[in-house]
Amino acid sequence: MALMYTEEQKELLAMVRQMAEREIKPHVAECDRTGECPMELFKPAIDMGLHMLEIPEEYGGSGMDFETTAMVFEELAKVDAGYADTLVTTFVALRNVILAGTKEQAQYFADVVAEGKFACFAITESNAGSDAGALRATAVRDGDDFILNGTKVFATNGSCASLYVSFFRTEKGITAFLIDRDTPGFSVGAHEDKMGFRLSNTTELVFEDVRVPASRVIGEEGKGLKIAMSGLNISRAFVATMAVGIMQRALDEALAYAKQRTQFGKPIIKFQMVQGMLADMAIKIEAARCLVNNTMKMIDAGMDVRKEGSITKTFVTDVAQEVTSNAVQILGGYGYSREYPVEKLMRDVKIFQIFEGTNQIQRLTIAKCLEAEN
Ligand SMILES: Cc1cc2nc3c(=O)[nH]c(=O)nc-3n(C[C@H](O)[C@H](O)[C@H](O)COP(=O)(O)OP(=O)(O)OC[C@H]3O[C@@H](n4cnc5c(N)ncnc54)[C@H](O)[C@@H]3O)c2cc1C
Repeated sequence: MALMYTEEQKELLAMVRQMAEREIKPHVAECDRTGECPMELFKPAIDMGLHMLEIPEEYGGSGMDFETTAMVFEELAKVDAGYADTLVTTFVALRNVILAGTKEQAQYFADVVAEGKFACFAITESNAGSDAGALRATAVRDGDDFILNGTKVFATNGSCASLYVSFFRTEKGITAFLIDRDTPGFSVGAHEDKMGFRLSNTTELVFEDVRVPASRVIGEEGKGLKIAMSGLNISRAFVATMAVGIMQRALDEALAYAKQRTQFGKPIIKFQMVQGMLADMAIKIEAARCLVNNTMKMIDAGMDVRKEGSITKTFVTDVAQEVTSNAVQILGGYGYSREYPVEKLMRDVKIFQIFEGTNQIQRLTIAKCLEAEN
């Protein structure tokens, strides 16, 4: 592979690969069928400390650099991207607290996650998707508290999280809040029955007169949308790293199949058109991985990646559709069958063009950045 991995990175990735192949992979097909991933399946990843990778050392986490953290999640996504995203989503929520919250909030968050619990980031509502600023959930001041009301949709980790970072409209505008699962008035609504990405839990969240202290406001009141968007700039590069994992798995499966499947008296890998598809898949995966790696290095250097995060997410998740589709093509009719893993990769990868801002919205962001540069 094109990336120059350090010896430490190689060792870590080998350990993650071994754990994922041994502990998770045997259960993936059944979880994909049922649309549920039992919590005990996360124990091996938690035992390895993967839930603490992005939590800074000062709060008891590993404080691992983004570059290496991304490599770990690419590795996990090779086995199942929905599983990987359950861990990644906790960090999506965390980033809001690290970027804008208080030290107390960050320590509280870290302590909850240290116990092996997950977090959720919920901004989307039924009428506020791409236009997140149109959200209608409200937070009304009542003495030292706020009273939250509203319904969020498509919340990843909705029913398996213990902590929620969610967004409500106050007198001063959209505001971010940190909410405990056991707060009275909070409940988990309907579970989404999705076409793919089925090991990732997606639900509605219902807030009915949920009372939270004002100390649970993250950052400044009215600045919630800005806080969410700053975190999402980083999160988009993580979406891309998981898509690279899915693509690599698609190539691995297609290559192995092409070597052993015989037609017209020879393995299909000997046919130039099959070779061309395999080569194109490898070209796109290497380019995608290098792009992700460069963006992660920029994040590690403290650079603003608004444009680069959007470019990375869009390029990688667009080529991922083609790569997974061609893996199905190389397996022919068997690729279309649930007996082989590649149809699942094609189902799983579609969401990557949609969530964390659709690829149409990413293109608008890229164009705005370009306009501002000139
Ligand atoms: C499995 C899954 C997990 C999710 N996880 C989370 C989560 O954890 N937290 C969370 O808050 N949300 C989450 N979401 C929500 C996700 O981010 C939204 O679905 C996404 O932002 C798109 O919003 P929408 O579905 O309302 O589509 P819409 O905004 O209605 O868009 C519909 C179509 O119109 C296009 N469109 C809209 N506006 C424009 C425009 N201005 N220019 C060009 N085209 C446009 C879109 O690109 C899209 O093709 C998740 C969604 C899914 C399906």
